[in-house]
Amino acid sequence: MGLIVQKFGGSSVAGADRVKNVAARVVATRRAGHRVVVVVSAPGDMTDDLIRMARQISEQPPAREMDMLLATGEQVSIALLAMAIHAGGHEVISLTGGQARIRTERVHTRARIVDVDRRRIDRELASGRIVIVAGFQGITDEEEITTLGRGGSDTTAVALASALGADVCQIYTDVEGVFTADPRLVPAARKLREISYDEMLEMASSGALVLQTRAAELAKQYRVPLEVRSSFVDREGTMVTDRSIERRRVVTGVTHDRNVAKITATGVADRPGAAHTIFRAVAARHVNVNMIIQSVPRHERADISFTVAASDMRAAVDAVRAVAAEVGAEEVLADDGVAMVSAVGAGMISNPGVAARMFGALAAAGINIELIATSEIKVSCVIRASEVERAVQALHAEFELQHE
Ligand code: ADP
Ligand code: ASP
Ligand code: MG
Repeated sequence: MGLIVQKFGGSSVAGADRVKNVAARVVATRRAGHRVVVVVSAPGDMTDDLIRMARQISEQPPAREMDMLLATGEQVSIALLAMAIHAGGHEVISLTGGQARIRTERVHTRARIVDVDRRRIDRELASGRIVIVAGFQGITDEEEITTLGRGGSDTTAVALASALGADVCQIYTDVEGVFTADPRLVPAARKLREISYDEMLEMASSGALVLQTRAAELAKQYRVPLEVRSSFVDREGTMVTDRSIERRRVVTGVTHDRNVAKITATGVADRPGAAHTIFRAVAARHVNVNMIIQSVPRHERADISFTVAASDMRAAVDAVRAVAAEVGAEEVLADDGVAMVSAVGAGMISNPGVAARMFGALAAAGINIELIATSEIKVSCVIRASEVERAVQALHAEFELQHE
């Protein structure tokens, strides 16, 4: 008898029929003799709807109250799912993040989990119950409700699987696994049978929504056995593991991210400490910076461009404007008409020329590159947002990802 953590995303619990379908899956796992901990997201678009409601009330709602509001979505799902399982005659209990003792930092709307006290869940499992936990939320040491950032239910599931030493963490979603590109954008995209933790992390951090970046990071750090699969069809999904049979490939997947904005400070004085001043100011506002590029100085002035999540654009611009005079910047420009496309693959380490092929494919499609960044196993380009679909399709074809 094993312990299995199953996570169901929003589309999997949108509507009574789907909740019943999830209940049937959970009960089947329990019947097979496993102990089951289930994590659920808010139904359908409820989180988006709640955010919209908040914006109708206030342009900048307090982050604490945002968390109070958003955490309600997941509470709807856990209660309905528990009712469905109970109606089938099974022992079950739903728990909020706080009740499940998922402790987070004292940060609102994007908190990180610091630890999970497993005693309550253990007690419930020991009494034979199926345990349903609200995803995306936790509680601070001051008993404040926090949320974990968009897509955070994935992270709840991985953190629970790690804390409980689960045999597997299954992420049930609306696609059949991790694909070579977003199947909604690239019809020829192919489901991967396996993907390494490193590649999964790079794909997640470069926009593959299928797993939250923090979840991929935790899975890698604690070697949590992870499977991404469909909640609608009963088929093998993608295993995220230590090794990957796809390793012989140079590129494993192509990702895109539309949630990107580019900030440019022009005419920054070419002297020690200028970059430090700018990025310290940005970091002080808890804004994550992705790519950074500095032009070669001319007449002792340089331009510095960087990218952030589009949702952080305003905070980043304010931060740079606040230090513009100090670093001698002439202008601070913001552009949210950009997007990022990336090619990811562990095989890049030993195969030179991936970047060149990528630039060639984009050039052949007439797509201009505005910024470039590379890591050991990823090449990313910032392009116009309007060209994302064509770019991803061109790169998918260039690296022949449609073929096994
Ligand atoms: P859930 O609500 O189950 O958490 P998400 O919408 O967060 O689901 O994530 C699943 C979506 O991720 C898919 O519908 C798909 O469009 C998108 N996606 C992006 N890139 C990929 C990829 N490489 N493989 C699979 N899905 C991807
Ligand atoms: N409901 C949250 C969101 O929409 C968390 C999640 O779905 O994982 O971001
Ligand atoms: Mg998700």
